Amino acid sequence: MQLHNFNSGPAILPKEVLDEASASIHNFNNTGLSILEIGHRTSWFVEVVEEAKATVKRLMDIGDDYEVLFLQGGATMQFMQVPMNLLDENGSAAICDNGVWGNKAVKEAKLFGPVTVVSDTSDKKHTYLNKQLELPAGTTYLHITTNNTVEGTQWHQYPQVNVPLIGDMSSDIFCRPTEFKKFDLIYAGAQKNMGAAGVTMVVVKKSILGKVSRKIPAILDYQKHIEAGSLLNTPPVFSIYVSLLTLRWIEKEGGLAEMEKRNNAKATLLYNTIDSHPAFYCPIAKEDRSIMNAVFFLTDPEKEASFLDLCKKQGMIGVKGYRTVGGIRVSMYNALPMSSVQAFCKLMEDFS
Ligand SMILES: *Cc1c(COP(=O)(O)O)cnc(C)c1O
Repeated sequence: MQLHNFNSGPAILPKEVLDEASASIHNFNNTGLSILEIGHRTSWFVEVVEEAKATVKRLMDIGDDYEVLFLQGGATMQFMQVPMNLLDENGSAAICDNGVWGNKAVKEAKLFGPVTVVSDTSDKKHTYLNKQLELPAGTTYLHITTNNTVEGTQWHQYPQVNVPLIGDMSSDIFCRPTEFKKFDLIYAGAQKNMGAAGVTMVVVKKSILGKVSRKIPAILDYQKHIEAGSLLNTPPVFSIYVSLLTLRWIEKEGGLAEMEKRNNAKATLLYNTIDSHPAFYCPIAKEDRSIMNAVFFLTDPEKEASFLDLCKKQGMIGVKGYRTVGGIRVSMYNALPMSSVQAFCKLMEDFS
């Protein structure tokens, strides 16, 4: 049976990336050695890191005022590393709490300084985004989750603010051309849209660093990682390599404009199918719907189990909603082919 991988993360990767990654486990770049057994300070691996950084900068169209880092600890570590490096008692962090991940960012930032939640959409179960933000005087930075993976909302136009903007782009990084330059710091766990689990990309504008008074342990200090060129300690060599292969794939396929074209086509088909079949409904405000993670429900909740059962029988993987949200979640990352969305929509029609 053909499987259709709608996992929310770790998630589907392009087949070519898997093929090349597998081959490199036995013989990396004709070195006769595995990618798993070469030193991280060899020129072989330094070239991997340098090419990955250069590709990120090209895709984002950013200059040398930004630095690209490949770190560990997941996006979850960024919930504390961002405030540890940027926030102290002299300012305050403005954070949008639009779901599970934004909420965690709020909790962690509070350990390092004052926090103002400038948007809390829990009144409607995070089914919309509040885009009219009022930042209090003395705001140090604004943090948004550009795509709410669990709830299925996505910022389609970023807020215009006069303080540094921080974006958790874990689940929509490189899904389309976007105003990366509006951000002073972007982070993304690789396992959703740019590679394998184990590495988190951080893109930071150097000018925002070095302003807090606290002492920062070296391993958590962005500045120290910049000085060391992402090689402060042994980095997740294989995960970085898989990210490089994925970044190369994005460029080869036509870059972010092509990703956007494909992602819009997939999302349009899926949302149209939901909206035109009364057996299903999507509670997310139309203008805020995510093109990466579609969250929707069965109109008759009693039918959910049999729908999920049918999905299982037809090889639809990973479509059960997040445990606190319920319903159905279909993740449509860059590597997911249109044919999988078509197969899923056909199943919805048949079920309906
Ligand atoms: C998955 C996810 C996280 C958590 O990532 P980890 O790598 O598991 O720490 C954080 N933010 C968003 C938006 C996510 O989708």
